[in-house]
Amino acid sequence: MNASAASTVNGGISFWYADQPTPTPREPLAGDASADVCIVGGGYTGLWTAYYLKKAAPFLRITLLEQKFCGYGASGRNGGWLYNGIAGRDRYAAKHGKDAAMRLQEAMNATVTEVVETAATEGIDADIHHGGVLEVAYTPAQLSRLKAFHEAELAYGEKDRLLLGARETAARIRIAGAVGSSWTPHGARIHPVKLVTGLARAVEELGVVIHESTPVTEIRPKHAVTPYGTVRAPYVLRCTEGFTAALKGEKRTWLPMNSSMIATEPLTDAQWERIGWAGREALGDMAHAYMYAQRTADGRIALGGRGVPYRFGSKTDNDGRTQPATIDALREILVRLFPSLAGVRIDHAWSGVLGVPRDWCATATLDRSTGLGWAGGYVGSGVATANLAGRTLRDLVQQDSGQAGPTDLTTLPWVNHKVRKWEPEPARWLGVHGLYAAYRTADRRETSSHSATTDGLARLADRLSGR
Ligand SMILES: Cc1cc2nc3c(=O)[nH]c(=O)nc-3n(C[C@H](O)[C@H](O)[C@H](O)COP(=O)(O)OP(=O)(O)OC[C@H]3O[C@@H](n4cnc5c(N)ncnc54)[C@H](O)[C@@H]3O)c2cc1C
Repeated sequence: MNASAASTVNGGISFWYADQPTPTPREPLAGDASADVCIVGGGYTGLWTAYYLKKAAPFLRITLLEQKFCGYGASGRNGGWLYNGIAGRDRYAAKHGKDAAMRLQEAMNATVTEVVETAATEGIDADIHHGGVLEVAYTPAQLSRLKAFHEAELAYGEKDRLLLGARETAARIRIAGAVGSSWTPHGARIHPVKLVTGLARAVEELGVVIHESTPVTEIRPKHAVTPYGTVRAPYVLRCTEGFTAALKGEKRTWLPMNSSMIATEPLTDAQWERIGWAGREALGDMAHAYMYAQRTADGRIALGGRGVPYRFGSKTDNDGRTQPATIDALREILVRLFPSLAGVRIDHAWSGVLGVPRDWCATATLDRSTGLGWAGGYVGSGVATANLAGRTLRDLVQQDSGQAGPTDLTTLPWVNHKVRKWEPEPARWLGVHGLYAAYRTADRRETSSHSATTDGLARLADRLSGR
């Protein structure tokens, strides 16, 4: 373990809560109740859905039930990349045609702007910096993937994306060994907790009823069951992402995949001088076990990666605590990227869960025969996608209840997508751990071989996992 590890706060939900006032708990549900729409889960998905529904139809009685507090899940722990990626786009192109997938991509591009503008309208100061996303390569194989990725994004209609060489990359961020990068303007850095708590406040001010400390144990048509009472509503919308497995009957629906992060101490002006990063781009790489990072508003680097990918039996972490080995591994990545930070203190480390469907495709769905809806399975790209999901669930509910017809959103290819469940244990655990062991080995082999071709093990892992 690193010498500075003793001073690292581990867990406490996430670093993003460290500089925030402790949220005042909202009252739990007090007995049976009824509503027009019941939303389960107080992350971005549930809150955006409540926001857009209430804005569209102020007369609707909307109740949101949250097991702990709004922002307890990934929405209060993520890397703050608000960007235009959506899990499953290529698969949707294969199934519904390229044009349909291009419409989905265009909707995602617009979603980044939608979040930025709505936060401004609602007076939510989430440290948003609209500096785009920079994805870098530091091996020949990564460079080949980067170029292919860049071309693919252009083919999906991106016009302003730039392919940058080593020098142009260094002019933005000086990353050791970087040989190229791809930059898109469709991304922004955010402070995740400021967004989720601001959103909860805005939703409550609109008249949505939020009950916290209220775990839903079972969802069935027209019912959300909790230990404090049952909410009856014609529409019950499940927005529980990485925690979905804990609900009755949902054990194998979406796999809770871990992602872990560290945040450094605030860097000095001299340290920033060596690194650059004046554009505050969201930063990622083309490794198979990829990293993601941001320059925070208070001058730190927050960096994340996979860590231990999955806990046996679809378990989730204990309030964000992560393994010491994961903290060391993330620190190693940080120092590999920025060798001048070898002695930097890591102030905080944490982890969280994201939802992974068996085919790695995000969806927004409303079953019209039961009134049950859900959105998620975003894999690692949910900060912006949750907003598109919220607007889509709004349109689906309005369409089903006869208040509106089909819209541009209800006809997107990710709507009402169904997929089979994950395998039972121990196959699930073995499969996911095998997958990430293969990706790490492939990353190591690509680094040492200097080959420009993606390692065969990673290609095999992609095929077997259904990605
Ligand atoms: C460490 C980490 C880094 C990430 N980085 C990025 C990133 O930089 N960019 C990006 O696009 N995506 C990122 N993601 C993914 C992104 O954060 C999520 O996809 C997104 O926040 C999902 O929002 P959500 O509302 O669907 O789920 P969540 O935010 O997880 O919210 C679900 C909520 O439901 C509540 N809940 C669950 N079960 C119940 C129940 N039974 N009863 C009542 N309430 C319940 C939970 O307490 C939680 O508050 C990251 C995820 C993690 C974990």
